[in-house]
Amino acid sequence: MNVEFNLNELKAADRLPSPSGTALAIMQLVQQSDATVHQVSQLIKVDPALSGRILRFANSAAFGARRPVADVQTAVVMMGMQTVRNFALSLSLIGSNSKGHCSGFDYEAYWSRSLAVSVAISAITARKVTVVPAESFTLGLLGEIGSLALATAWSEIYGECLGAAEGKQLLELEREHFAIDHNALSLLLLADWGFPVIFLDALKLSFEKKVSGINRTAHFSRQLIFARLIGNYCVADEAHQAKLLPELIEEANFHALNELALLKFINETIELWHDLGKVYDIKTDVRKSLQKTAATMESFLPGLNLLLVDDDPMMLTCLSKQLTAAGNQVAVCCDGEFALKHVIEHRPQLVITDWRMKSMDGLALCKTLRASAFGKNIYLIMLTSTEDEDALVEAFDAGIDDYVTKPVSLRMLLARIRAGQRIIMLQHELEKESRDTQRYTAELAAANRRLKLMANTDILTNLPNRRYALSRLEQESAGALRTRQPLSVLMLDLDHFKSVNDTLGHDVGDQVLTHAAKLMRATARSNDIVCRLGGEEFLIIAPNTDGATALLLAERIRSVIEKNQLQGLVLARPVTVSIGVAGSLGAKPDWKELMKWADEALYRVKQGSRNGVQLACMDVGKGR
Ligand code: GH3
Ligand code: MG
Ligand code: MG
Repeated sequence: MNVEFNLNELKAADRLPSPSGTALAIMQLVQQSDATVHQVSQLIKVDPALSGRILRFANSAAFGARRPVADVQTAVVMMGMQTVRNFALSLSLIGSNSKGHCSGFDYEAYWSRSLAVSVAISAITARKVTVVPAESFTLGLLGEIGSLALATAWSEIYGECLGAAEGKQLLELEREHFAIDHNALSLLLLADWGFPVIFLDALKLSFEKKVSGINRTAHFSRQLIFARLIGNYCVADEAHQAKLLPELIEEANFHALNELALLKFINETIELWHDLGKVYDIKTDVRKSLQKTAATMESFLPGLNLLLVDDDPMMLTCLSKQLTAAGNQVAVCCDGEFALKHVIEHRPQLVITDWRMKSMDGLALCKTLRASAFGKNIYLIMLTSTEDEDALVEAFDAGIDDYVTKPVSLRMLLARIRAGQRIIMLQHELEKESRDTQRYTAELAAANRRLKLMANTDILTNLPNRRYALSRLEQESAGALRTRQPLSVLMLDLDHFKSVNDTLGHDVGDQVLTHAAKLMRATARSNDIVCRLGGEEFLIIAPNTDGATALLLAERIRSVIEKNQLQGLVLARPVTVSIGVAGSLGAKPDWKELMKWADEALYRVKQGSRNGVQLACMDVGKGR
């Protein structure tokens, strides 16, 4: 009820990473039960870049091909359609999310680490097969996609969360701000993209780090934990690597790798990681690039970020010296085309351009900038050798904000720059205000979701509460009338529950209630709405179900509750439940009467020997 609501809302607002193009088409095709390898291959071949990468992946050591694979169809047969599908999905996500606007989120490091985890998990699952290694590869790559999703959906607020949080605290901060954390969001997205249940279960266990048991899911989740540790190790610098080693060695022991074998294993992983980085276009020298980012940060100075464009080298040198001396950060370009490239990469705040230049002149540069998203807000000053009115009007029409005539007086140019600076500051404030508004709206929406969730959820059992139950029943009843479908309700009441409290105490009573609630939820069908009305009373709304079918459901639940007693509980009589059932078709009875009838049927069971089910006998014409 709760999180699904979240995801759909974000999906509707187009604020989540999502596959596109060929990947989307492949996902849709593979979903059809009759999709053939030939069809999938044809689709891949439409996209030459994807075809090339699939062939390289199929031939890479990660996949372990014994002989070279030369055509797409053989690669698809070898890899399997699901793996190909997930591979295309991963590529599509990497392609469209290698950069972004969340300031505290290091996109390069994120993908780099994800790739290291995926190389590690496929090697680990190849040593001891819990799932198909090539399939585990894509899970490794996308296993923490929730972080990227938060950075995409709420770049500003998430940036602040990242700045304020460390380690475990981050999850709490995320839940506070977004009503969901990145682990839970990863699971939702992967489920949405059709990843197999065993993957999701294992991933969930690995996030919780409470793996016990020896079944396949538990073992796979331990392997995921191990792979993540290796991923952390790959992207860490040497000092940090030394700190990570003890935990890594301990986990490696569990996977039957001694220290020597572990080192060999890590080296092989790192080698493959670098190799596959080329296939996926992911940088694997992140340590260097992290240092580079730090260096660029240091070189950032206050003052305006200017770009000077002129094809006269003397003029460029002279003006840039003077403007730098006046406290600005000045970059230079000798023609319009270079300038355009520079603007895209470095986003200067102000551009001063000469008019007459070879290839792309100042006028064309201004027009191009104004026509683009990144250039429409830049402050533009044109250097002109004429004050001819027609020429100036043409320049203003092309998008300049101001002009300075040649020969340039430095005093005048600086005065014009200061005027520009005021506009730039104003623009910044406006942008910040709009970001603030966006952020408040997002926070408000999250707070509202939390409130709504709390108002509709029973704290003890996590089931929808009475308030939700009644309004939902009213809705379902209206829907049933519209579509002429039957609708049934089950009224459930635990038997002699007071004696549980009296003999074992209220806390045990609570555990019995929670246990019973879980059994009801697990036994009811996914469309049935299981609610706690209060105390030891529950209501199940069964849409599109007639009374006779609802009676079978009731009997199933009754029997499951009787047979599955809470472990370790010593009671004079087992915990059982009595259930009254009522069904409707058409306008009568209305939802309130339907509840009343179910209640009366329940009463009759309680009058008898309890631990039973009864269908209300209804004669709509005459009442009961
Ligand atoms: P019957 O078979 O006739 O339904 O008997 P009963 O004892 O189940 O019914 P009764 O209505 O007499 O008692 C319900 C008890 O449920 C009384 C109350 O103490 C207990 N109860 C209500 N809410 C809670 C709760 O949240 N936790 C616990 N532990 N007990 C609760
Ligand atoms: Mg009761
Ligand atoms: Mg009772």
